[in-house]
Amino acid sequence: MPLESINKRFSAALKFRHQEHLYRSRPLVLSPQATNMQINNSEVINFSANDYLGLANHPQLKQTAQDFTNLSYGSGAAHLVTGHNNEHHLLEQELASWLNTERALLFSTGYMANLAVLQTIMHKGDLILADKLCHGSLIDGALYSKAELKRYPHLDMLALEKKLIQAQQNKQQAIIVSDGVFSMDGDLAPLDNIQSLAKKYQAWVYIDDAHGFGTLGENGKGVFSHFKQEINSNTIVMGTFGKAFGSFGAFVVGSSTLIEALIQFARPYIYTTATPPINAKVCRKSLQLVMKATGQRNQLQKNIKQFQQGISKLNLELSASKTAIQAIILKKSAVAVQWSDSLKQQGFWVMPIRPPTVPKNTARLRITLSAEHTKKQINKLLTAIESICN
Ligand SMILES: *Cc1c(COP(=O)(O)O)cnc(C)c1O
Repeated sequence: MPLESINKRFSAALKFRHQEHLYRSRPLVLSPQATNMQINNSEVINFSANDYLGLANHPQLKQTAQDFTNLSYGSGAAHLVTGHNNEHHLLEQELASWLNTERALLFSTGYMANLAVLQTIMHKGDLILADKLCHGSLIDGALYSKAELKRYPHLDMLALEKKLIQAQQNKQQAIIVSDGVFSMDGDLAPLDNIQSLAKKYQAWVYIDDAHGFGTLGENGKGVFSHFKQEINSNTIVMGTFGKAFGSFGAFVVGSSTLIEALIQFARPYIYTTATPPINAKVCRKSLQLVMKATGQRNQLQKNIKQFQQGISKLNLELSASKTAIQAIILKKSAVAVQWSDSLKQQGFWVMPIRPPTVPKNTARLRITLSAEHTKKQINKLLTAIESICN
């Protein structure tokens, strides 16, 4: 007999999750990702996805995904063995050229990219300064590295500066780590301030722009372009293909030396099979679509404005967001679940976001808008939310 059975270890924790209204279950999807979907056997209008430009179900991506000329499905091995297909190679070159950086490197997922970068570049004695609300994968990356981790209050540049001064006094190499667009709030990192603090205190900067690429900046070049900041040699930027690009995977851009160091030393890069080359081919197509998606970006902005105008009349606590991610802060998990259920009954899919994904007492409905939403769909959602408020 083991010391403690697995059942015993988890039965209390699982029960507690239920009691605290924190239990998660996986909605079963029976249709393509789109604004109209079939989830758990009901027809719903989807306001929870990160498919901001409506590319996930784009015919050109689906067509590209069928073209296996010269390709196998499996990549066969890791990138350093025989997995690095020409499609991966071309995608990296196209990304570097699009973002005007020396090089780009693909990762299987954004999660792995964050582990890889922080583990590889931050060593024992170094200091990682992360925004309190940055994505869980950045925190995991920081914990995975041997550097010290300190978190500064959300967007608080004075607090960050104090920590940078301390780091300089202690002769610690610091890196500032932040989401570009915060994933659960939709607000932006003050990138101009971050970059000038980094320069002043000789710190590095790592920005996870999973939600900025495709939606913000010139041709969707993300939060750096939005703030007219350059990706310099002490700046690293991560992006994912799973959100506005409508596909799958992730990339890191930066200097040649950085990318070469990641190839040599990043364990989440080295010890894993390369993604199927067809995925890289699809990502290349989605990059082309993202660059040209000016119409979708304009429509997305219109949809955001329409939603914000409607919601502002309802006396709700909202996150300070001008992006496609709009959060209604309901504080209690039970209330967030209740609102989500009520919207579900009215035909809307809006997931409740609860601790530990967000801080305690900030449970919320996270509403995401897409260029594909119609004026009518957004109005219907607003009416449904209003009916819950009353
Ligand atoms: C989605 C997301 C990730 C993870 O990317 P995946 O490719 O889905 O693993 C990382 N950071 C942020 C901010 C995200 O929103």
